[in-house]
Amino acid sequence: KVDVKNLVKNFGDNHVLKGINFEVANNEVVVLIGPSGSGKSTLLRCLNRLEDPTSGKIVIDGKDISDSKTNIDQARENIGMVFQHFNLFNNLTVEQNIALAPTELGKASKEEAADQAKKLLETVGLVDKYDAMPRSLSGGQKQRVAIARALAMKPDIMLFDEPTSALDPEMVGDVLAVMKKLAKEGMTMVVVTHEMGFAKEVADRVVFMADGKVVEEGKPTDVFEHPQNDRTKAFLEKVI
Ligand code: ATP
Ligand code: MG
Repeated sequence: KVDVKNLVKNFGDNHVLKGINFEVANNEVVVLIGPSGSGKSTLLRCLNRLEDPTSGKIVIDGKDISDSKTNIDQARENIGMVFQHFNLFNNLTVEQNIALAPTELGKASKEEAADQAKKLLETVGLVDKYDAMPRSLSGGQKQRVAIARALAMKPDIMLFDEPTSALDPEMVGDVLAVMKKLAKEGMTMVVVTHEMGFAKEVADRVVFMADGKVVEEGKPTDVFEHPQNDRTKAFLEKVI
């Protein structure tokens, strides 16, 4: 469970998050939408403390992420993150990419991590790429490996920041299919995406952000078909 209260983030004079209140229940899939610069990535990055909040409170599974006394490395192990750009280690095989964190952090032996990597590659439909080098993969395949790598730490929560935005259109479906499968299996997810079809089909709730605030939220059918706020309406007219 994610509980964000009055989250403020300033970069100097730039007030990026202006008091965000945001909750994600266990097993819930929340899709975060909003114009460029509205603060979506900054919110996700605050959730695993890639950014330090200016003020406010972030509690994830009972741990206060915003408290400097919290062991942030430990908290992060529970939060998987997938970015627009995959950041795979190009000098390691697919299997090594996935097995690296669990072995380095002492979560699994080499054999266990290798076994688990194979299972995760089955989940993302890439078991035949076990020994491949990242450069031999397509963008969509790389992104599915990045998802498998995040899952290798057995996180309770997965954060996705525009995971399909850098992909050729024909690759998008495979990545969304993997995310949909995760959602079905009960993964708690926060997804920033422009894929409104995915949002309609998979999200339990859609949150619309503009100008550093949560402006509107609700069930996808409500937000998409009956937006209440003018900014939501204007945004949806552009993207749908
Ligand atoms: P997009 O849809 O384009 O990805 P976004 O909603 O994810 O936009 P953010 O990336 O969160 O928006 O950026 C919100 C604001 O914060 C922008 O004005 C941006 O310039 C600023 N910002 C983000 N990261 C930093 C940083 N590390 N240092 C300074 N300013 C930043
Ligand atoms: Mg962004």
